[in-house]
Amino acid sequence: MTHYCVNCGAELVTRVIEGREVEGCPNDDFVLWHDPKVTTAVVVEVDGGILLGRRAIEPGRGQWCLPGGFVNDDEDPWDAAARECMEEICVPVEMSRLIGVYHIAKRTAPSMIGIAYEARLADESRPSPGLEMLEVRVFALDSLPPMAFPSHQNVLDEYRAAKSPVQAGAEGSPSAGVVAQRGAQPSPAPAPSRPQRKQ
Ligand SMILES: [Zn+2]
Repeated sequence: MTHYCVNCGAELVTRVIEGREVEGCPNDDFVLWHDPKVTTAVVVEVDGGILLGRRAIEPGRGQWCLPGGFVNDDEDPWDAAARECMEEICVPVEMSRLIGVYHIAKRTAPSMIGIAYEARLADESRPSPGLEMLEVRVFALDSLPPMAFPSHQNVLDEYRAAKSPVQAGAEGSPSAGVVAQRGAQPSPAPAPSRPQRKQ
């Protein structure tokens, strides 16, 4: 497929930069870099387990996932993670730690850099499903459902490994039940609080 310069409209030509073949402008310094997309996933701890959302949209419609999503170009990933929690499970959260950074390979799209955080609820707000979720539910760590995305499964495996043996398998209780289902109108969302972060 032919690509064009965003500055001058010229047809891009193949250039070699640091050993990689890339498409660049013959007239100026524009290069069509295929940068990885940056995305976040958040393990939100609550009494009895963690919060998961069931997706209302593709990919993975109907399946469970961690709240999270893409980082905007001018956004700190901490802020992006908190914003996505507000949008997807409608509660303010405080990031408590970085779980890990993951390379997520894609065949037909740019690969992704996944940044996973642990967080807890910032106040007494009740989670409820945002537009991209069908429902939000608390799951005990020993009874998590299959995840929509392998990368979220990796995050949870790592999270559980860090928590065990204290919590994993300690209680045989089933999930703590439905927190909120779509249709129950969520109360107006409070303004997101900036996550507390260590400098
Ligand atoms: Zn150009």
